[in-house]
Amino acid sequence: MHEATRLIHSGMDIPLADGSPRTVAPVIQKGSTVLLPNAAALYDDDAFVTYGRQGLASHEALKSALCDLEHATGVELYPSGVAAMTGAMLAVLSAGDDILVVDTVYKPTRRFCDQVLKRLGIRTRYYDPGLTPESLLALAEQSTRLILVECPGSLSFEMQDLGAIARLARTRNILTLADNTWAAGYLFKPLDHGIDISVQALTKYVGGHSDVFMGSAAASDPVVAKHLSDGVLHLGWATSAEDAYEMLRGLRTLPTRLARHEASGLKVAQWLATQSEVQQVLHPALPGSPGHDLWRRDFAGSCGLFSVILKPATTLQVNAFLDALEIFGLGFSWGGFESLAIDCGPQLAVRAHCNAYPGPMVRLHIGLEDPDDLIQDLRRGLDTLHA
Ligand SMILES: *Cc1c(COP(=O)(O)O)cnc(C)c1O
Repeated sequence: MHEATRLIHSGMDIPLADGSPRTVAPVIQKGSTVLLPNAAALYDDDAFVTYGRQGLASHEALKSALCDLEHATGVELYPSGVAAMTGAMLAVLSAGDDILVVDTVYKPTRRFCDQVLKRLGIRTRYYDPGLTPESLLALAEQSTRLILVECPGSLSFEMQDLGAIARLARTRNILTLADNTWAAGYLFKPLDHGIDISVQALTKYVGGHSDVFMGSAAASDPVVAKHLSDGVLHLGWATSAEDAYEMLRGLRTLPTRLARHEASGLKVAQWLATQSEVQQVLHPALPGSPGHDLWRRDFAGSCGLFSVILKPATTLQVNAFLDALEIFGLGFSWGGFESLAIDCGPQLAVRAHCNAYPGPMVRLHIGLEDPDDLIQDLRRGLDTLHA
């Protein structure tokens, strides 16, 4: 069966209470207390869900569908994508550990490393995604416990050879964790390439409507999966039954929406590449873009998120370009049905390596609108650069 077909039906076989009518969507079951059938069951956590925080019917349906999506044996849910990243790290790290984090990592992940992990006695070193897997592993020390990758990188979309990194890390007993939000668990399967933990912000493409927060972490090795589930238990995270329901609903249409985001994204990216105000388009699926060969080898497709580097312009000019857009919203996050734009400049400043580009960088999320309207909107914006 093709994956798009499986995702339409996955998570539908969760057992119902006797006699309840079976609907297409899961039951939204809410509860803190779970009533157990007898006294022995109160402490039989292997056979029973004993407390609502562990998740009920809609959570179970979503987790089962995400296991299908990620090719995982275990998936944990978190109240946001950031919580999934921090939760996965806290589940496997200890004081005295050293971690190697890609310099193009999502900025709030970096903030967690620099502030919280540092306070807990865990050292973070940021590496250039342009390193070969061999030179990256050459940075590892005795205390290096984890390599954190994000591919393509946030904002600037650098590609890395994740399979080679995972293989080399394994020979050194170093865990690998991928923030796979760009691929939405669908366009790239980190676990199939030997990555130990695959995280995504479901908030983005799985939710698809810019209105629900949730994150997931998936593992195929049962030992790693147990670390993740213990981590959630110890930190006490819970997600709402309605949010789990909405994420599963989003999953049904993920392949259909992604195909449209991909086609429109490439159409807009190709057009931008021919505009005189544009220095370079950073879109791994665009032939000639950096990382295109690795993308073609490893990924099954692309989404609607990419960046452009403009010819040199002032911040005032970039702001005038963004302010002239009428269809694109100005806002963070992405993966919803609507198109968005941001100036990347202030976020690049914190990086150690990937911070020098030939002009201002603007990130675009191409939504589900007609791409010709989006092109017209961008042309209107680019015209202000000459004004
Ligand atoms: C948005 C995002 C996150 C965080 O997700 P939230 O649900 O907003 O906390 C993590 N990683 C990447 C790459 C993201 O784009």
